[in-house]
Amino acid sequence: MSTFQAPKGTYDLTPPRSATFLAVREAISAPLRDSGYGYIETPGFENVELFARGVGESTDIVTKEMYTLTTKGGDQLALRPEGTASVLRAALEANLHKAGNLPVKLWYSGSYYRYERPQAGRYRHFSQVGAEAIGTEDPALDAELIILADQAYRSLGLRQFRILLNSLGDKECRPVYREALQSFLRDLDLDEETRRRIEINPLRVLDDKRADVQKQLTDAPKLRDYLCDACKAYHEEVRALLTAAGVAFEDDEKLVRGLDYYTRTTFEFVHDGLGSQSAVGGGGRYDGLSEMIGGPELPSVGWALGVDRTVLALEAEGVELDLPATTSVYAVPLGEEARRVLFGVVTELRRAGIAADFAFGGRGLKGAMKSANRSGARYTLVAGERDFAEGVVQLKDMESGEQSAVPLAEAAAELAKRLG
Ligand code: ATP
Ligand code: MG
Repeated sequence: MSTFQAPKGTYDLTPPRSATFLAVREAISAPLRDSGYGYIETPGFENVELFARGVGESTDIVTKEMYTLTTKGGDQLALRPEGTASVLRAALEANLHKAGNLPVKLWYSGSYYRYERPQAGRYRHFSQVGAEAIGTEDPALDAELIILADQAYRSLGLRQFRILLNSLGDKECRPVYREALQSFLRDLDLDEETRRRIEINPLRVLDDKRADVQKQLTDAPKLRDYLCDACKAYHEEVRALLTAAGVAFEDDEKLVRGLDYYTRTTFEFVHDGLGSQSAVGGGGRYDGLSEMIGGPELPSVGWALGVDRTVLALEAEGVELDLPATTSVYAVPLGEEARRVLFGVVTELRRAGIAADFAFGGRGLKGAMKSANRSGARYTLVAGERDFAEGVVQLKDMESGEQSAVPLAEAAAELAKRLG
């Protein structure tokens, strides 16, 4: 017999591990929600043109990794490979930037798709939580986002992560650097593909992972030496604000990141327990993106953190999240009448906001108690004919093992009291 399998490069989230993913999404978004970021949700696909223009024709994401499709109506769509272009598109379409309340601060959480070579920490379907602050140029905003990501990772108990920071310059100084870098790179001994990259996106060559390429890059011109005074001052201010907040970072002048649209502040969060897929999140300022997709000038900054790799980082550090049991009360009926009555009690508990579950399927006491144990419930309610004859149910404290008879009519109230 053949069975279905998840497509290559994907995996399913199933209990109990799925609870960790939910907790990670929650932990990453909590500091954002407390800092004025509103929730935004956009479609899982967009017109392919949005990414071609917004992410960049010279990026791996657009040239190699995008899932594209033609609809029956002839539209060219792409499954979203990242969040920023979509979020900015949606903000522009809803005129959020015209409400006179800049920056527009938004957070999102969802699925992203890239046709990559699957390996540990690199999948074709993955999950990100992201934040964008649109329409304001202020180093405090760049600092805020980095501080909030740091806070999120710390709240999860992660310690072995580092923050890499760089400035990519702006439309004044970057072109000058770009040219200097190009003429340096053209003299190196590089393969055809890399030579092409020099002409399209030379900064990406700095990001090359191969040792023989890196060796040749030792004397490459440094962007730092080309930053204009405005970019320098801006970057120093971001650094000072991070330092004042007690957030440690490392200056990394080779950090260019894969997307075309970044300007000035760029950063990456790396985790040392993850091997080669070490980036758990990244982001930066993208002052030119709005105009690139047809909008007005809206300097913005944002990040996206990978949920899958964050979970792997927790596992690498051996961090066990303190996830409270989802069920507080488990009801075990013995017999037909008990089934009806206890099902009623469970409904009553749930309506009172107490998490309750029920031994469905008329199972025997032993199997049902096993399920009660597995559910993590603090209390079990057991009742059979004899209990009902006396008007009681048996209430068992699963922690102490103590069991006592409680009047049926008071069972829900008693549990509510005990569970506080
Ligand atoms: P990498 O250099 O590892 O390819 P990236 O620069 O392409 O990462 P971003 O586009 O910045 O990644 O996405 C932000 C985060 O999303 C990454 O730091 C990572 O945690 C996660 N991510 C990106 N691509 C994948 C993937 N294919 N599988 C799992 N997580 C991913
Ligand atoms: Mg990538």
